Amino acid sequence: MQSQPASTVSESSIASQTETTSKIELLNMTQEDLKGFFASLNEPPFRAKQVFKWLYHALETDFMEMTNLSLKLRTKLTQIASITDLPLLHEQQSQDGTRKFLFGLHDGARIESVLIPDEKRNTLCISSQVGCALACKFCYTATMGPGRNLTVAEYMGQFLGVSRRLPEDQRITNVVFMGMGEPLVNLKNLFSTLDLLTDDSGLNIGKRRITISTAGLCPQLLELSEKVPVRLAISLHATTDEQRDELMPINKRYNIKKLFETLRHCSTKKRLPVTLEYTLIDQVNDSDADARRLAKLAHSIHAKVNLIPYNEHPGAPDYKRPSAARIERFRDNLQKAHVRATKRATRGDDISAACGQLAILAEESEVPTSAFKAPSRRKTKR
Ligand code: SAH
Repeated sequence: MQSQPASTVSESSIASQTETTSKIELLNMTQEDLKGFFASLNEPPFRAKQVFKWLYHALETDFMEMTNLSLKLRTKLTQIASITDLPLLHEQQSQDGTRKFLFGLHDGARIESVLIPDEKRNTLCISSQVGCALACKFCYTATMGPGRNLTVAEYMGQFLGVSRRLPEDQRITNVVFMGMGEPLVNLKNLFSTLDLLTDDSGLNIGKRRITISTAGLCPQLLELSEKVPVRLAISLHATTDEQRDELMPINKRYNIKKLFETLRHCSTKKRLPVTLEYTLIDQVNDSDADARRLAKLAHSIHAKVNLIPYNEHPGAPDYKRPSAARIERFRDNLQKAHVRATKRATRGDDISAACGQLAILAEESEVPTSAFKAPSRRKTKR
């Protein structure tokens, strides 16, 4: 584990960056919302696009730097509006290049975002909630308890906060909603966030470069698939209701049959690519019979399967990762049944940044003491 402290700023400056004010937060607004905001100031609609470019191309956080606006307007915006710049409380870099960022929120809560670089992509895994109410038995985040939803600005703050800490010539190319929490619990904020990520005069991330991972909230899945054609990753993890009820209590509300009816609708009618995520836990869900049932389910919606070797953590001491041989056997069984099955490389597990290892627990909250500002902020002025 290597920590990468940059310049340290004082606690009072964190407070001033995060304090809740009655100012209007611009990162909560889509470009359409911004037009309405500027209309309310008797400014022409094109101001929205100008400011949008400052926010999402130049990654600017200071209205006074927005030099193509009049000094009068910049002063006014400084008085009445804000741009969230989440303080970075801690950063860790894994030996494999994965970077984990701990951001502070205005109410003292903390969330984690993970950057996973590979040759072609910079994938950002963002958190959707502080904690999670779904209580999946094997997940570390679940041990934090229900927590709360994130605002759009807190979603975008993660994206922009990490973007500012990338080298000048790099950008985030892919986004996966696989961090802490369940993204489909708050569809309204998720939709605004997706609008901002995909806006072609802003960040312009292709919809198929965005993956929403969900434990399977069926009505919300239907609504999402009607509105935004993103990739879906479904946390299945078990192939019988008995087993899934035990591992994922959400199954008692939306069982496997209901989930697959919903997915059939999403993948056939809306042509959304669906991946089934299957965390392999030793002697729990990794038998030959499990593989056979999983193959049948995958075929029923033409899904591919992503196998995640269980990441061990102190929140669920009874669960273990299967041996490499058992994992290979499970994968072979799927492939023999003609299912496209990949095994997820366990990136960042030396810094607890791998799937299901994200949690900020009470005992850890003492650890990060310094807040870092972005070491070199990218400024490509428009
Ligand atoms: N709420 C969303 C996002 C959760 S995290 C969802 O349920 O999909 C992303 C993935 O990691 C999910 O598939 C989750 O079930 C899985 N996961 C959780 N804890 C894990 C662990 N300890 N090891 C491996 N995968 C885990």
